[in-house]
Amino acid sequence: MSALQPILRGLTRKCPACGQGKLFAGYLKLQGQCAHCGETFDHDRAADGPAWLTVLSLGPFFAPLIFLSAMTSGKAAYYIFPLLLIFMVSTALTLLAFMKGAWLGALWHMDQKKKSETP
Ligand SMILES: [Zn+2]
Repeated sequence: MSALQPILRGLTRKCPACGQGKLFAGYLKLQGQCAHCGETFDHDRAADGPAWLTVLSLGPFFAPLIFLSAMTSGKAAYYIFPLLLIFMVSTALTLLAFMKGAWLGALWHMDQKKKSETP
């Protein structure tokens, strides 16, 4: 199996092993195990990876948006900046949930690869 498949399964918040069961019990809390295939997700090792990936993905879009808003808004900045802040925070929090799934899919793939190489 290529690394892309478990990453894409994780990105859709599904079990990286089978792609059928749910990976998450809540917003970012993992299931104990997959209801479909029984794969265990006993410990969450994602740490700061998903947050880092989210910032890296959105930063190139948000930085010019902030710059252009600051340069062009004038007195409308009192309205634009709070709206921009709400937009950026909600976008980042939404993307974070999917990035965590993708990150865990990549970690799962590396674990499987390590298990297959160990005699
Ligand atoms: Zn599964």
